[in-house]
Order: sequence, then C-alpha cells, then structure tokens
Amino acid sequence: MTLPDTAADILVVEDEPRIARLVGDYLLAAGHQVRLVDHGDRVLSAVQACMPDLIVLDLMLPGQDGLSLCHAIRRFSEVPIVMLTARVEEVDRLIGLDAGADDYLCKPFSPRELVARVRAVLRRSRARPPAEAAAAASEPAGLQLDESTHEARLHGQPLDLTPVELRLLAALAAAPGRVFSRDQLLDRLHDDQRALSDRTVDSHVKNLRRKLERSGASPDAIRSIYGVGYRFEPELLEGPA
Ligand code: CA
Repeated sequence: MTLPDTAADILVVEDEPRIARLVGDYLLAAGHQVRLVDHGDRVLSAVQACMPDLIVLDLMLPGQDGLSLCHAIRRFSEVPIVMLTARVEEVDRLIGLDAGADDYLCKPFSPRELVARVRAVLRRSRARPPAEAAAAASEPAGLQLDESTHEARLHGQPLDLTPVELRLLAALAAAPGRVFSRDQLLDRLHDDQRALSDRTVDSHVKNLRRKLERSGASPDAIRSIYGVGYRFEPELLEGPA
C-alpha cells in the first residue's frame, strides 16, 4: 500500500480508552504509526524517547495536564501539537494563554475531522517556506524571519513565536502597508480553514503584538483597520519615540 506523503509517527495522549482507541484506529488507517499514552506524567519521557512527528494531546489528564505539558514540550521541541478539549470555550482561553498548540479540536469531534487536521498540520510543518516568507527576506528594518528554521528576531532579540504566529507575521511583513482581511490571513495560516475562525486570527494577532511590544516595537506595527482587518507598519517596529 502507498503511504500518504504525510504519514507520520504520532503520539496520542488520551486517558479515555474509547476515544484513544477510536483516534488510534483512524490514524493507523490513514497510514500513520501511533503510540498511545494515557497518563500525563508519562508524556514528557515518551516525547523525549520516541521523538514523534506530531502529538495529539488531551487537555484533561490524570497527572500533569495538557496545558502544562504543552508548555513543557515547547521548551525543547517544535513538534506539532493538536490539542483536544472538552469545551469549546476552552479554546479561546488556551489561545489567550498562548499554550503553543498548532491546532485545537473540541470533543465530541469526528475522527475524520481529526485525521484531516492532523494531515493539515503535518503538511504545514513540513512545507518549504512559502513565497511570502522568501519575499520577507527583503525584511523591514530590524525584523528577521526564517520559517524553515522557525526563527524570528526583532532588533536581534528572539520573538519566541508559535508556528502560527510566525506564519502570520511573515504574511503581513511580506506586504507592508497592504490591508489583509481576516479571511486572507486565514488563507495564509492554514490550508484547512475550518481549523480557524475570525476570532482565532484576532487572538493570534493579540499575542503577536504582545511579543513585538516586548521587543520594543509599537503594538500598532500590526494596525487594526476597522471593519476590514490588519495592516503591517514596519516603521512602527522601532516603537514609540
Ligand atoms: Ca481526558
């Protein structure tokens, strides 16, 4: 049988046996290799031991919970993480907390939907830097972006961006002064648009502004255009005088 181009080693962290089995079966059928972990305290050692290509991570777990695990994994790895939560309201909170996950799914979800999200996240993580990132090589003053090495610096200082934030900033910075609608930004963030809503773009922009500001930029370097979307203003990277 021919494996899809996105076949991967996937670590599924889920303490509900029925869901774990269902998710595992669907991912196996999609050509992936699957390892199951059902306790939060065993996740970090499993990640370090098997270096998965992607992690499906339940939020509520016995032992260490999914949010703190996500933060802990991000200290040593950029492995894509798809987080599972039981409540839709939880997603906004997690994005606000900057959990570092690449995508979120609410229970109950269809296993097909999960498989589609996993495929999309794997594609993105394996994709060569898009033309936009290459264009961003003619960088606005002080900003260095490299999607292939996942590095973003402002005035030499690392920005510590999540993969989604890096793509968002690369898209905006590739066309300084151009106004992007939320839909246009969604197009550039995910090839599976169902993964993100308009409000998700806003949440990512909020986090991105906070990080730019931390490195001395004005938060208005990503300016809100009322009723339309966002515009990148590179001259504001220097911050308020
Ligand atoms: Ca659970």
